[in-house]
Amino acid sequence: MSVFSANDFDNHEAVLFVHDQATGLKAIIAVHDTTLGPALGGTRMWKYESEEAALADVLRLSRGMTYKSSLAGINLGGGKSVIIGDSRTDKTPALMEAFGRAVDQLGGRYIAAEDVGTDPTDLEHARRATRHIAGIAEGNAGDPSPATAFGVFQGLKAAVLFRLKKDSLAGMRVAVQGLGHVGFGLCKLLKDGGAKIIVADINEALVRKAVTELGATATHVDAIYDQEVEVFAPCALGAILNDNTIPRLKAHIVAGSANNQLAEPRHAEALMARGILYTPDYALNAGGIILVSHEGPSFDREKAMHHVGRIYDTCLDIFKRAEREERTTAEIADRIAFERLSKARKEKAALALAS
Ligand code: NAD
Repeated sequence: MSVFSANDFDNHEAVLFVHDQATGLKAIIAVHDTTLGPALGGTRMWKYESEEAALADVLRLSRGMTYKSSLAGINLGGGKSVIIGDSRTDKTPALMEAFGRAVDQLGGRYIAAEDVGTDPTDLEHARRATRHIAGIAEGNAGDPSPATAFGVFQGLKAAVLFRLKKDSLAGMRVAVQGLGHVGFGLCKLLKDGGAKIIVADINEALVRKAVTELGATATHVDAIYDQEVEVFAPCALGAILNDNTIPRLKAHIVAGSANNQLAEPRHAEALMARGILYTPDYALNAGGIILVSHEGPSFDREKAMHHVGRIYDTCLDIFKRAEREERTTAEIADRIAFERLSKARKEKAALALAS
């Protein structure tokens, strides 16, 4: 397996492969860029088809975190970790503690948070071996998912205003794929906003919960792309905007929390060609990381959530600039994030030269 010549390698600062025989832990931690601050990003536990797939995921996701923090205007770098295994059967407190020991080896260059397949309780176990953990209850901001859902909701509203010229979600039909930590929270906010929700999840219990508690309409996992809706909100896994799904979408807007929604960069153009407004995933799902960036002794939840709410303005700026420059929203988001990052890199280099 190659690392430095892997397709998704993008001058990552460090990639740590970890194995712990006693607990069965197999993990990869990637630190993409620490120009803006320590690399913070979630820990994903997934039954990857191959080690190459796990490496590709961690390289891609960690780079995404660099861009996400840069775009959100926070002083954190980009990192991510993946644990190879089934989170329902392979995860134990001892395995998470072994993962914590691995995080600790990086001495604070990487700070772990939750992601698909892990939750704040798992991170509490990891916390026994390292202090470089964010997004847990203990004296911190707690579970970042509600903030992520709130941020997605704000960006979704900005997209509705920009694309459909409506400043209310009343009667708006939204198809939500994935009812996990973020997706379910988003559904609650959509319901309160007066939207009609159509949901799909491989977990039938969650679907039943959304139907009974929120009055959602359930649909089959594969039928979620074909719904007659104004908004498609992918809140499960990545690469779901691809050659197979894009032609099926009837939505005018894509706005959801999932990371790396575009299977390939060209799919941003495919969406634009079909007149679908794509809300760049990492602009939209930055709520959790924004909340976590406020952690510390003077943590003020209200101030942090106000900051999360600015995702609305960030998204509107992206839409307007994309329209003006006749570019995809994905390209504009990358450009804004890269502009801040390269400015910081130049300032850092100048400082190093001066000292
Ligand atoms: P989660 O594991 O709690 O939820 C994911 C849900 O998707 C689960 O209920 C799962 O059953 C469902 N799912 C999986 N495959 C599916 C499929 N094919 N069709 C329909 N449903 C499917 O994860 P989460 O924390 O809610 O995160 C959701 C997405 O948002 C992920 O891509 C994650 O990386 C991203 N994200 C999460 C946060 C956060 O704060 N939790 C922050 C930023 C981005």
